[in-house]
Amino acid sequence: MNIQTQVKNTIDKYKICDKKEKILVAMSGGKDSTVVAYLLHKLGYNIQGLYINLGLGHYSERCEKAIKQLCEDLGIKLHIYNFNKKHGSSMCYLRTAIQSKKSLKNCAICGVIKKWILNKEARRLKVNKIATGHHLDDEAQTFFLNILKGSPQLSANTGTITRNKSDKKFIPRIKPLFYVLEEDIRKFSKKQKLPIVYESCPCAIDSYRIQIRKLFKTFSEKDKKNIIKNFDKVKGNIKKSKLKIKYCQLCGEPARKNICKRCELLKINGY
Ligand code: AMP
Ligand code: ZN
Repeated sequence: MNIQTQVKNTIDKYKICDKKEKILVAMSGGKDSTVVAYLLHKLGYNIQGLYINLGLGHYSERCEKAIKQLCEDLGIKLHIYNFNKKHGSSMCYLRTAIQSKKSLKNCAICGVIKKWILNKEARRLKVNKIATGHHLDDEAQTFFLNILKGSPQLSANTGTITRNKSDKKFIPRIKPLFYVLEEDIRKFSKKQKLPIVYESCPCAIDSYRIQIRKLFKTFSEKDKKNIIKNFDKVKGNIKKSKLKIKYCQLCGEPARKNICKRCELLKINGY
């Protein structure tokens, strides 16, 4: 089955979005989110793009250029969030400052801050959904990682759509590539000759996920699909956290504790 049909089937089966909605595609410049934007546009969804330029030198500039080109070619409205301008420093600088006080991995810090920006920007732009480029390999790895961490309940909210129905400030996130293998996305993107930066982020050097990715390279397609099949089977039985969503006392964004993860990080840095 080609990946356009796979995406269409995922959208139809899980009803993750419809054509009346405004969808913000979180675009990184890499192959996955570029393919999401390309396919949602091709399938006739009302999309806009958001790129968070984290100020990671030449890499961020090349990603921005690739995204601008795709959006121009397809007539997609693009929003650019310039991290340097908004925060007065690059993500590298902020992260190093946080890491001098607390031992945290690069991707852990960046991931929390990116999610916070995405949700806030999506609300500001009044969109109904956020679409990301997460694919089957990512999701199988996450499920596997959570088991290794001894916390399968962390997978309770994952799936083709992540939502918190009780919370108005939380914009649902959808993953149209949830059932698509990474290799198939790579092949598709090359065939379509989409403007893409294929290298991974220069700062992604030390995460636990990178170790898991190496392990996954030894897995067959069938192994990876089986992990997702297992996830689908047990998903309904994974106990969801009973923690009520609160609003961060510092920034007002949805949070599990009194202070959200992003503000916790900034506090470490003395903000
Ligand atoms: P990552 O956590 O880097 O693996 O990225 C997961 C998803 O988040 C990607 O598929 C994109 O949809 C989104 N994303 C990552 N980086 C950015 C960025 N700089 N700007 C906007 N969206 C991003
Ligand atoms: Zn906060």
